[in-house]
Parts: sequence; C-alpha cells; structure tokens
Amino acid sequence: MTQQTHILVVEDEPSIAEVTRLYLKRAGYRVTLLADGQVALDFLARETPDLVVLDLMLPGVDGLEITRWLRARSDVPIIMLTARREETDRVLGFEMGADDYVVKPFSPRELVSRVRAVLRRTQKAPAGPAAGGQAVISFDSLTIDPNTRQVLIGDREVVLTAREFDLLHLMARHPRQVFNRDRLLDLVWGMNEYIDPSTVTVHVRRLREKLEANPSHPRYILTVWGVGYKFEP
Ligand code: CA
Repeated sequence: MTQQTHILVVEDEPSIAEVTRLYLKRAGYRVTLLADGQVALDFLARETPDLVVLDLMLPGVDGLEITRWLRARSDVPIIMLTARREETDRVLGFEMGADDYVVKPFSPRELVSRVRAVLRRTQKAPAGPAAGGQAVISFDSLTIDPNTRQVLIGDREVVLTAREFDLLHLMARHPRQVFNRDRLLDLVWGMNEYIDPSTVTVHVRRLREKLEANPSHPRYILTVWGVGYKFEP
C-alpha cells in the first residue's frame, strides 16, 4: 500500500486553480483545492499534505501569513504562486521559509516540474536497489518502513513530514545511541545551511505528539538531560 503524494493548492482564481489541479492530478498526485486563506489554515491545522502550492494574494488570510503559520509548525514544502509585481513579498516569502516560487502567468507543466523538484529535494529518495531495499524497523507496535516512508503504530498510519521521518528513522536505526542536537542537525538537515538548534527540539516534540501514547512520558524518543536524545527500542 503506497500512499499517493498529497498536494494542497490554495488559489482563489478559479481558472488557475482548476488547470493546476488538472495537471497535478494527471502527474499522479492527490490534490486538495482551496480558495480561501482561512479555510486553508483550518485545513492545515487538521491535515498534513506532502506539499503546499500557495497563492500569495488570497481572500481571508494571505499566503505570507499562511507561510509564517506553517513554518512555526511544520516543514511541509511550500511553492508560492506570485504575480510579477509582488517581488518584495516573494523575497519575504523565501525568508519565511517557502521552498520555491512560480511567477504568474506560469505554464502548468512548469509548475508540475517545480513540484517534482521540490519533492525530490525534500523527500530523500529511499536508497538501495529496488529489490531488497532498506530494512523495515519495528519495535513493539511501531513499524518504520524506509522504502515507502510509512510509519505505523499498530495498524494506524502516522503521517510524518519528510524531516520528522528522517529524524525518527535515523534515531531508530541507532537505538540507545545518544545524539546531541548539533549532530542531529548535521545528519538530518545537512551542514550547508544554518538552522537554529531549537528546530530539533520542535521536531522531537512533534514526533512525540504523533507517535507517543503519552507525549510527556515518551516511550520511544527519550531526552537525555543536558546531552540530547536517544531512541529506546
Ligand atoms: Ca490570488
């Protein structure tokens, strides 16, 4: 069972929205289309799409506001749709953490290829040959499949962002090994950009909320006070 990549498109111009949806669907993605910023926020509070295509100028809450809100909570990839005159907003959007942008009018094919590129960058492809692949890890009711990037608690699928998955997978591959935050930043986020170490704390908290029966008394991801974190098998 492979889950279809889910893309949220927030765009209030019906013709652009519709053609975007059509092309993304044709490219094999599951698409949710929303036209209002506030409705999009409500949706994002409940669901975790794999990528968000976000128009900058929206009724309700605008695209920058949504980007800021999202980045405080998740690292879901964001592609902004902007008009040519919105140059400064675009820069601002990047600073807030958008992954890419497409300037209107754009060709839907161009957008699809940007979506693919951003997903490739953010969801590291499972390494290893198709036959065999990487080992599935399981402890108690927790199952981590790096080939499908699926995480199950019992029969329930836990939907993680790309980074959350990478973080969990790394720690679960090295049970009981203590990682400090800088090491986790290097291994999961890469060393070529500066990221605040508190990002790790935020991701660990979100992982616990998603995985643990009782996030304040975690079973799997334990804090080693003054040092970092470890995975308890
Ligand atoms: Ca608009």
